[in-house]
Amino acid sequence: MGYWFRIGDFELLVVSDGVIRQDAGATFGLVPRVMWEKYVPDIDEKYRLPVGLNSLFIRGGGKTVLVDTGCGDKSRSAPGAMDIEHTGTLLENLRAEGVAPEDVDLVINSHLHFDHCGGNTVVDDGKLRPAFPRARYVIQKGEWEAATHPNDRTRGTYLAENIEPLDEAGQVDLVEGDTEVVPGVRMVRAPGHTDDHVVVEVESGGDYALYIGELSQHPVQLERLAWISAFDTMPLVSLETKKRFVEKAIEKNATIVSVHHEYPGVGRVRLDDGKRKWEEISNGSAGNENGAAL
Ligand SMILES: [Zn+2]
Repeated sequence: MGYWFRIGDFELLVVSDGVIRQDAGATFGLVPRVMWEKYVPDIDEKYRLPVGLNSLFIRGGGKTVLVDTGCGDKSRSAPGAMDIEHTGTLLENLRAEGVAPEDVDLVINSHLHFDHCGGNTVVDDGKLRPAFPRARYVIQKGEWEAATHPNDRTRGTYLAENIEPLDEAGQVDLVEGDTEVVPGVRMVRAPGHTDDHVVVEVESGGDYALYIGELSQHPVQLERLAWISAFDTMPLVSLETKKRFVEKAIEKNATIVSVHHEYPGVGRVRLDDGKRKWEEISNGSAGNENGAAL
């Protein structure tokens, strides 16, 4: 299962690692249930909503880049009441689209919470090893520090099994701040969810795509900017960051890829009578002049 589209000279593929279920109250933070519940028709008996795990594969300029790796399939427990039973499909879905693990040159993690880097490593013969044997794993230095020195709040989400084997294999490249990993593909600082959280921009031939990481977990959060998840460590910083990127996305008519929206989570934010409106462009009839489906 893969959703392909094009940005200038790049081919992009949104590929799923599955779906988790997460407490809806935590997703909407300070926003009271009476305000958010109409946007969440598929809440379950434990008050959880489905959360996508959409990774982005980028091919162009002689390189391949994979952004985020989902939860992976190593562990079947997760913090709180999250359901991660239905995850771990990334490698299989990449293979179905003709991409083998050894084809990946660079892996970027938007941050190192378990639902973004769980597929960084696999268990092979009882041992942990990098899932992408040839890849350089490009990670923000500050995020690496936070993940390798978790505090009492972050301990449950920064799991050594997802990052230590990369270091042991010598496959980690730590970077600081905005970094162009391939000409036209940039990791850009987007603090708020964590201090060193990044988004990924792809720009080519006048087209622009934005992988938004944790700036949104549900489409309404791109329309109502003050609706911010309780998982964000610095909500007021998140608000400023989100404002900046949503304004840029509107101005540049960005194709937005959202990791946590329902698969494939590809759409745009448009202004409709001055109001921000999320428009899914990936349901069936995808494709247009800017971000045409292949
Ligand atoms: Zn996440």
